[in-house]
Amino acid sequence: MGPGCPVCVTNMPEVDEAVALAEDGAIVATYGDMYRVPGTNRSLADASAAGADVEIVYSASEVVDLADATPDREVVFFATGFETTAAPTAAILVGDPPENLSVLSAHKYVPPAMAVVAELPDTDIDGFLAAGHAATITGYGLFETFVEEYEVPVVVGGFEPLDVLLGVERLLEYVRDDTAGLENAYPRCVSREGNTAALETMWEVFETTAGEWRGITEIPDANLVLHEAYAEYDARDRFDIEPATGNADPLTEQCLCGDIMAGTADPDECALFGEECTPSNPVGACMVSSEGTCKIWLEYGGRP
Ligand code: SF4
Repeated sequence: MGPGCPVCVTNMPEVDEAVALAEDGAIVATYGDMYRVPGTNRSLADASAAGADVEIVYSASEVVDLADATPDREVVFFATGFETTAAPTAAILVGDPPENLSVLSAHKYVPPAMAVVAELPDTDIDGFLAAGHAATITGYGLFETFVEEYEVPVVVGGFEPLDVLLGVERLLEYVRDDTAGLENAYPRCVSREGNTAALETMWEVFETTAGEWRGITEIPDANLVLHEAYAEYDARDRFDIEPATGNADPLTEQCLCGDIMAGTADPDECALFGEECTPSNPVGACMVSSEGTCKIWLEYGGRP
C-alpha cells in the first residue's frame, strides 16, 4: 500500500491541530475521509459531536464559499492529500481568498516517500503501481530517476477498474521478465510533463519540508507547507495552536498500519482487525478511508 493513502499518512499531531482549532471556535473544513481519523485523543467527528463546527467539503473552492458566507468566523481548511489536492489548495490561495480563511496544511508529496519505502528494511518490493491521480499533476517523467536508482519497475495506473487491471498486468510482466522500466498505463490523463499550470501554482504556494508520515517515518522533503509569501494564510502562523495533551488510546500501540503501508504485514495479522478495530470504530487510519487497506481487506475478504 505504501506510501499509503493520504488519509492514512496524515500524522496524528496534524489531526490534533485541526481538532484544537475546531475546539477553539474556528470552523474547520476538511475532506470527508478525514472526519473520523483518530488523533491522539479525539477525531474531528468527536469534536463535532461535542459542539465544534466541522464542515465536510468536496473541493477547495467550497471552503472559499464557506468563508464568504461566514465573514464573522475564522474558517480553517484542514487541507490533506497528495499533489492532486495540493494544487487546488494552492489555487484558492493565489486567487485572493477571503481574509477569514486560512489553511492548515497536511499535504504530502509522494516522490520522496516512494524512495523511503523502497529503502525500508525488510521490504522486498518488486514494483510500484504509481497513482494516476498524483501523476496527472506531476507527470510520469518524475519517476525516471527513481527507476534508474532503484532498478524496479514503475507503472502509472489509472482509476477505473480496467485501468487498474491494465497497470497491474503491465507491472506483473515487468516482474516476470525481471526487468526495470517506467510505463504510463493511464495515458488519457497522464503526460510526461504533467499539468504544468497546476504544478506552477502548487510550487508558488508550497515548499517541501521534512515531516512524519503516520505509521511510516519522518521523510525529508515530503510534507508541503506554505511559502513565507503566503504566511498570512497559514493557520499555524495565524493561530497559537495548542493541541490537547493526554494519553493516546492504548489500543493504537497495537496498530500495524505502518507495517501494512510498508507491505510487510497484512491486516489480518493485526490482533485488533475486525474486532476492536472496524470501519465504524476505527483504531488506525487504515480502517477509515475507502482507500485504507484494512477497510478494503475487511470489506472484500482479504488476500485470496
Ligand atoms: Fe490499525 Fe485497525 Fe488496521 Fe489494526 S486493523 S492495523 S488497528 S487500522
